[in-house]
Parts: sequence; C-alpha cells; structure tokens
Amino acid sequence: MAEQEFTNFIHNIIDKDLAEGLNGGKVVTRFPPEPNGYLHIGHAKSICLNFGTALKYGGKCNLRFDDTNPVKEDTEYVESIEEDVRWLGFEWDKLLYASQYFDIMYDCAVKLIKAGKAYVCDLTAEQIREYRGTLKEPGKESPYRNRSIEENLDLFERMKNGEFPDGAKILRAKIDMASPNINMRDPALYRIAHASHHMTGDKWCIYPMYDFAHPLEDAIEGVTHSICTLEFEDHRPLYDWVIRETGWEHPPKQIEFARLNLTHTVMSKRYLKALVDNGDVTGWDDPRMPTIAGIRRRGYTPEAVRDFCERIGVAKANSTVETELLEYCVREDLKNKTLSKMVVMDPLKVTIRNYPEDQTEMITVENSKNEEDGVRQVPFSRDLYADRSDFMEVPVKGYFRLFPGNEVRFKGAYFLTCEEVIKDENGEVVELICTYDPETAGGGTNSGRKVKGTIHWVDARTALPITVNAYESLFIDDEEGNSVVNPESLKVFHAFAEPSVGELGAGEAVQFFRHGYYVRDEKFSTPEETVFGRIVDLKSSWKKK
Ligand code: ATP
Ligand code: MG
Repeated sequence: MAEQEFTNFIHNIIDKDLAEGLNGGKVVTRFPPEPNGYLHIGHAKSICLNFGTALKYGGKCNLRFDDTNPVKEDTEYVESIEEDVRWLGFEWDKLLYASQYFDIMYDCAVKLIKAGKAYVCDLTAEQIREYRGTLKEPGKESPYRNRSIEENLDLFERMKNGEFPDGAKILRAKIDMASPNINMRDPALYRIAHASHHMTGDKWCIYPMYDFAHPLEDAIEGVTHSICTLEFEDHRPLYDWVIRETGWEHPPKQIEFARLNLTHTVMSKRYLKALVDNGDVTGWDDPRMPTIAGIRRRGYTPEAVRDFCERIGVAKANSTVETELLEYCVREDLKNKTLSKMVVMDPLKVTIRNYPEDQTEMITVENSKNEEDGVRQVPFSRDLYADRSDFMEVPVKGYFRLFPGNEVRFKGAYFLTCEEVIKDENGEVVELICTYDPETAGGGTNSGRKVKGTIHWVDARTALPITVNAYESLFIDDEEGNSVVNPESLKVFHAFAEPSVGELGAGEAVQFFRHGYYVRDEKFSTPEETVFGRIVDLKSSWKKK
C-alpha cells in the first residue's frame, strides 16, 4: 500500500515526540477492537488512522483483540475482524490478545495492593454508585478502604481462587474519593465473573476492568501512541495513573480523536447485533449494514473507504459526516474501473412494427466512456424492452424520452418513434408499438437529425432475467429525530439484462447504464436466480428536478 500522505494533529504530536527523542525514535500504534461484534465503518477510521500512522513513520501497528470481557466475545468476531483489516489493505505487525496478559495484569494488581494503592471492597454495585458522589459533590470513602495490605492480598487471592460469587467483591484503586474527575474516585480494577473465556477457558474467574487493562496492554506491547476516541479523554488521568503506579520505562501516550458519526447510520456493535438478532437484516454482512463486511459485500472498495477516511480527516471535536460523502468516494473509485451494461429494471415491451420479423442484428456499443475499454456487440431485434420509467403517456413539460409521437435514440441502434400505446383490461400500459428509421443505424449520428433523448434497451429474445436489489438507507429518522429501521430499505426489481451480464464474475462491479453501479451477490443468487445488488446509484439529473 502507498505511504499515507495525510497529516493531522496526532502526527504533529508524534513529530514533536520524535524531535524530542522520545521512545528512541520509534512509533508503535495498535488497533484494539473488542471481539464482540463485526467492525463498522467507524472502525475503518480508527484502522486507517492507526495503521496509516505507523506506515507514515515507518513504525509498527499491532492488531490487538481487547478480550477482557468473557461474556460477549466470540471467535467468529475475531476472524471477521482480521478479514476486515486485511481487506482495507493493512497488515499488522503482531496479532495479539489482551487475554495473553492476564498473568501480568494480575501481578500488577498485586503490586498495587502491596504499595497500598488498591484494596478489596465489599460494597454492592448500588452502594458503590451511591458512594461515588456526583459532579457537584465529592464521593464518600468505602468502609473497606483501609483494610490492611495482608488482608487485601489474601482476599484478592481468594477472589482469584473462586471463593466468592460474582459481584461479592471487587478490587479498587485507592486514589481520591474527592477528585473532581469521577473516574479517579477509587475506580474498579478487577471484578469477579465466573464465565468461560474464548481464549483462557476457565482459568480465570476474575477479569480486569477496561481502564486498568488497556494502559497495561499498551505498556506491555511498547505502544508509543495509544490513539482512542474522545469519550476516553476523562479517563486519561486514570490511564496515566495505572502506568505510573505499575512502573514502566516507556510510558505510552494516550491521544484522543473524534469518532466518526455518519448521517442516517447507527454505529454501535451492540445496536447492529440487535438488528441481526431481530432478523431486521439477513446478517452482519447484509449489504445494507454499515459493517465492513456489509459494505464489502455491497461492492464498496477498500480504495473508496480509505479515500473517505482521508477526506474526513482527524479532529478533536465530534461532528457528523454526510453519508453522501462516502457514496461520492465509492462513485469516484468505480467510475474508472467499471464497464457499462444495459439493463432494463422495470421492463416495458417495445415492438418495432417496420423492423423485419425474423432479423436479429448486432449493435456496436461502447464498453465505457473511456475509449480504451473498446466496444461490444449487443443483439437487437423487433422485440425489445425499455424501462417503464423512460415512458410517459402524457409527458410533463421538458420530457424528451418515450411518449406518443416522440422520437428517441435507442442507444447505439436507431431512432424509434412511439406510435401506439397498448393497454391491458386494467388500463395499464403493457406495450409500445414503435417504428424505426433504418437511416439512423449506429445511433443516428450520421442522420443529420437530432433527438434529445437517448435511452437504453434490451433485446427481448436474448434477454437475461436477473433480480436486482436496490438498497436504500437502512435507517430513517422518526418524528423525534431518532434513527429507526427503514421498512423500505430494499426494493426488488425483476429486470432484464443484455446477455453479456451473465459473464460477469462474482464481486465484479459493473455500471448499469443510466442506473448506477451494481455487483452480483453470490450469497443471494441460486442456480435458478441471479441476484445483483446496487452498490450506489448515479446522480440522476432528472430525479433532482
Ligand atoms: P462499539 O460501541 O461500536 O462497540 P467500540 O468503541 O466499543 O465501538 P471497540 O471494539 O472498542 O469498539 O473499538 C476499537 C477501536 O475502534 C477503538 O479504538 C475505538 O475507539 C475505535 N472506534 C470505534 N468506533 C469508532 C468510530 N465511530 N469512529 C472512530 N473510531 C472508532
Ligand atoms: Mg465496546
């Protein structure tokens, strides 16, 4: 992958650290997901930032699974996360698990107890909350705060040995119950949880809390710059306290940045998991999901996602980015990579009255806007399909596609004039009878006449039936402005495609002329049914008006 060119306030901090000779000139970062779900597009920002920063400085970036909470974690998630990071184009220096450090973390806790900096507390969770105080009022000290070091060591060991039920005791840091920063009011370091862990099995029944574990993980790995999201800013004094009190030669530095928020999207593994569990979507990789697995299947490219992450930049203030910017990046990337095919989404039969009944000819059509992509031959006969959206029985002002009496260009073929409209017993238009002008062969470029409209078409005799999933936003805002699941996030079309669409490979993005970018969806396709999904639409000039 190309070296990252971008710069931001984090790089300014690193530049300064390097200039001061900190960390022996090394830059080590990490991407530390909790394996409790699939990664989403917000994580992509963190991945690009952590791996991109290491690349920029010739440093190293670890992929570390922050697996200190045994109940919610799963190897399925571990595997998906590895795949997602690689798909984005990054390779980690080391693949690590926080659970590998449980022994060291335990020793660090013992060290704190011996230094009189931690104690075992018997207050219930509710009591702890009461004792903690508020932003305006200081907290109260726990009656267990002044237990002797010997008693604390004994109780902590017995916690480890499984002598107490969940919630009966916790290990707390002894810092300052009157601190204006609530995180410093004797925070929990270890809790009891009799639960099997995906890596360590039943070895442990006590697990370290995030605020204790995370700085230690960073310190153990020699991380120099621990980049995290803004909500951890108030935890930084505790991060530094843990590092200082447990004694490390090269203390890592925590730097916070604003998390990515996208309009019409919810980014929280917990919420996305609920969608999967409720059956609101077909899985974590549903093409409508804002997960990396979802957008990959949708047909978004790693290049587009990296471009997006670079464009949004890295800031210290939270903001919400328009989903349209991500879509723009996808279009920008696909427009030069894809060939164009003709597909009729909502087929309306077109019959050319004066075209020889038994004849099929091959029409030459450009493969894309780029000349070097060449041309292809597409069959054409008197029986065609046009898109219903290209017809209006009573045209509005300025309409120049198919309507009775109007002449339009059938792309690459001839000028056709709509002569007659055939309806069924319900009054619905079912067929257009047209005539063609043989003098306009080749799209009428040499005919001396001009028509305003060019529409796409498919030969009915050789048409390939395909199913097209057109995706809309998975979320819409309700009346209170909250994101809720959009009941119309999927529109299904029974479309007809020119024959060469059948030769497209799985995952090969294609432009359906005048519709947008699409890709064949292997998971939804069956031997009887070929399913394409819409990656992103084109910006239609007509729709906007
Ligand atoms: P979620 O609430 O969705 O589970 P999380 O922050 O708990 O997110 P982690 O697995 O802990 O998820 O995240 C791994 C890394 O990705 C963290 O460093 C976190 O700060 C970062 N991250 C998560 N969400 C975003 C986001 N929306 N924008 C930028 N970075 C993010
Ligand atoms: Mg989390």
